[in-house]
Formats: sequence, structure tokens, C-alpha cells
Amino acid sequence: MPELPEVDALVHFVGSRIVGDFITRTDIGELSILKTADPPLEAISGLEISGASRVGKALIIEFDGLDLMCRFARAGWLIWHDQVPTGPVRMGKGPLGLRVHLASGAGFDISEAGTKKNASVALVHDRIEVPAIANTGPDALSIDDDQFAALLADSSSRIKTVLEDQQLIAGIGNAYSDEILHTAKLSPFAPADGVDAQALLEVIRGVLGAAREALNNLSPAKVKTMKKRGLRVHGRTGQTCPVCGSTIAEVSYADKSLQYCPGCQTGGKKLSDRRMDRLLK
Ligand SMILES: [Zn+2]
Repeated sequence: MPELPEVDALVHFVGSRIVGDFITRTDIGELSILKTADPPLEAISGLEISGASRVGKALIIEFDGLDLMCRFARAGWLIWHDQVPTGPVRMGKGPLGLRVHLASGAGFDISEAGTKKNASVALVHDRIEVPAIANTGPDALSIDDDQFAALLADSSSRIKTVLEDQQLIAGIGNAYSDEILHTAKLSPFAPADGVDAQALLEVIRGVLGAAREALNNLSPAKVKTMKKRGLRVHGRTGQTCPVCGSTIAEVSYADKSLQYCPGCQTGGKKLSDRRMDRLLK
């Protein structure tokens, strides 16, 4: 799933190309992607794009008085076209969710690989109308020390769970939470209320800031590959930790997995998810 650094890269790349341009047409490739009906999507045809921004992991295309919110889910992303294909779109076939045509001839697709269609687009007068946005916590790069300390102190959850909870702190997902906890030398299962908040927040700023810098001038097509290249533990089960040389381990769940370094993070111990173990017995 695209997280804060990747969506910021999108905002930078797409924003510099679309602001001041006009929407000429939108094509829907997957009906379920559109979560709102009023105002209708056609309302943006003819409008000038006034901005592009990010809330949490969502991309927002801004118009005067309207926001088009794009949420990518796990397998969704934006495909940029210098020349957008003008042929008819075949509904329900393939990854295309929404295609946006611009007056310049350029355009972009919100597309989603795989059979699960969870990416979403919402057209609203105010972004606060979208519940997932209204409930979004402070941004991971702007939350202050006191806010962060308070949210950790109030939680009895595992630190990994807290970092991924968008209502508590926005922008971090499975990949960058693994990276942050590795850099902070914290077990993903450590109780949040026992964690040194100030030290962890410095790591959060460092890891996300570095990733954002590495991705910032890339085209959307290159962002995912470069993201993967920059990861030290996430998705690297069985590989060698670049810090201590231990073998990177994982805990797997039904639909996802986390990676960590036993040498750096858990005093050499292997983690197991007890809930999972119980299910398997
Ligand atoms: Zn290590």
C-alpha cells in the first residue's frame, strides 16, 4: 500500500503537471471505485485543477469548491500519461479504475492490480465529508512531541499496531512501520505505552523524511521500485540485516506479514503470533 513518502512523491510529480490544467473528461473502468454520487463525477469536467495534496495515504486533486479524493488501498496506484489514451474504456476489464483526461492531452489513471477492488475515489465539496479523512489522526510528519507521547501513553496495543492506525497517526503503513521499528531497534510487539516516544518520533521523522527525499523527483512508474530498493527489513525475510548481519525474520498473518531483525529488535528471539499459533493447534 502506498504510504506517506510515495503519495508525497505523487503529489509532487502530478501536482507540477496538472495544476492550472482543465479536466476534459473522466472514464470509469470499475464502477465500484466511485464512492459518491452527489455531486456527480461529470461535475469536474471543464473545471480547472487548483491544487494537489495529501491527507494520510490519500491523494487529493483540488478544484475551486470540490475535492477529488483518491485512496489506493493495497494494490492501487496512479499511472501517468503524457498522452492519455482516448479510446473507449472497457468497463470491469483489467486494472483501470478511473481515467482522467486533461485539456493538455495528458492525463492519469487510478488503477488497481488484482481481483480485490478496494481503491476508491470520492468527489466531495469538502474532504471532511469523507469519514476516513474526517477520522484521520495527525500526520506522521507534523505530529508534535507531546501529541505523540500522549497517544503512546494512552495505548496498551503493540507499537506496530499503533503506528499503522491511521486514526492515531496518519501516513504510515506496513512497510514503513517495519523500517521505523528496525531503525529504532524496537520489537513490533513492544507495548506502545512503554516506548520512548521522543526517540521513536525522531526515527519516524528520519525514516519518512529520507524516503520522501529519495522518491520525490521520480515518476509514478518508478516510485514503487525505488521504495522497495530503500527498504532494509520489510519484504526481506531470509536476507541479511545490513546493520547486524542477522537473518531477517517474519511473522505472517492471513493476509499480510511483518518483517523484523531478531538481532536488532528482539534480543535474538523469534517472535510468534500467539493468536495465530492457537489457530493452528
Ligand atoms: Zn539487525
